[in-house]
Amino acid sequence: MRAVDIIAKKRDGHALTVAEIQFFVQGLTSGDIPDYQVSAWAMAVLLRGMTVDETVALTMAMVHSGETLDLSRVSSRVVDKHSTGGVGDKTTLIVAPVVAALGMPVAKMSGRGLGFSGGTLDKLESISGFDVSLSADEFFDCVAREGIVVAGQTADLAPADGKLYALRDVTATVPSLPLIASSIMSKKLAGGANAIVLDVKVGRGAFMETLDEARALAELMIRIGEGVGRDVTAVLSDMSQPLGRAVGNAVEVREAIRTLRSRGPDDLVEHCVVVAAEMLVLGGVARDAAEGRALAESALADGSAWARFRRWVGAQGGDVGVVDDDTRLPAASLVHTVPAPRSGYVAAIDAREVGLTAVDLGAGRQFKGQAIDHGVGIVLSSKVGDEVAAGEPLCTIHARDEAGSRAAEARLLKAYRWAEEPVEPPPLVYGVIGGRS
Ligand code: URA
Repeated sequence: MRAVDIIAKKRDGHALTVAEIQFFVQGLTSGDIPDYQVSAWAMAVLLRGMTVDETVALTMAMVHSGETLDLSRVSSRVVDKHSTGGVGDKTTLIVAPVVAALGMPVAKMSGRGLGFSGGTLDKLESISGFDVSLSADEFFDCVAREGIVVAGQTADLAPADGKLYALRDVTATVPSLPLIASSIMSKKLAGGANAIVLDVKVGRGAFMETLDEARALAELMIRIGEGVGRDVTAVLSDMSQPLGRAVGNAVEVREAIRTLRSRGPDDLVEHCVVVAAEMLVLGGVARDAAEGRALAESALADGSAWARFRRWVGAQGGDVGVVDDDTRLPAASLVHTVPAPRSGYVAAIDAREVGLTAVDLGAGRQFKGQAIDHGVGIVLSSKVGDEVAAGEPLCTIHARDEAGSRAAEARLLKAYRWAEEPVEPPPLVYGVIGGRS
């Protein structure tokens, strides 16, 4: 078999066989197939799509590119969650300790920034010492000992996704249903949790812009998970404007810490409570979403989720002093507040533009392996529905230099749409599908 023939076959719109997909995934994992051929293939898949059978074969080949964990020795139920990618999405940093504090082990493989969307691993690395590159044994030990672990793809765990993900980030090949489904589900299946909650984002700041596309992605991932005996729930959630107020890395960690310690932005808290509730239901800790909500709210209010977060940071090598005193997180050298250019109601904030602005500031990558700047980012002072007077703070830019800050300001001002009359904010959740089978 030759990689070039497989690329040509997909370019010409034909379905690949299981053997061809396995050959390609093995080759990209070992490095025998070089990055330029993998990138060409990813673009062919993006343009031509894949059948459900091809997507299942791709997912399973990626799962078996490394070890697969059996977490049944840790607990009969271990829960995982994954977002399909969004802007300002720091949900994992909050829901993982909430759910773990309620006695439900959480074992999660996350990703780095992807296109305009941020990545949990990049955010966690804002905390000095936090180690996201765990071997399969370390991943297992951490969840067995601490009841919580969040790590990335490594040479042991879903290595094919690690390689493909880094290339997709910088080759405009992210928004492909089969590539997203296989990327997410390969990590979830290799990570070993038997209950998986998917946070499927919809809107300008998501890879699926319409509810129909998001539902199709959710249904495909549920089918892949259930096909190998996992329980999968998908929450379809809004990503038309950024979630919460902070977009970047350290700025998002700070917002997550403040949400765990006292009170975060209402939309972020509500979203996290919904996702945590579904995790608790799927994990068997709560009978229904209402009970899950009440439990999640109590873990936030009584400080147990915050205590779990501190313990988790320490367990993965992070400096707990940094999270206790969040002024020690990486900071940008220049902080500039953008005044509102007019009075009115905020009608829309284009989440994709905000995400791309954060990437331009240095919070994400322009090429594979590029070092990112954990200190830069954006903090929104107003969200959709807010009434703002001209000159009041609209958002704050955390930049490396004047030029970056000025470019970000121009771009962000264009991301806002205004109305004369009051505007209803979009719903946070469009629906929940799947569940315990
Ligand atoms: N998250 C992932 O892990 N992979 C994708 O392709 C998109 C979001």
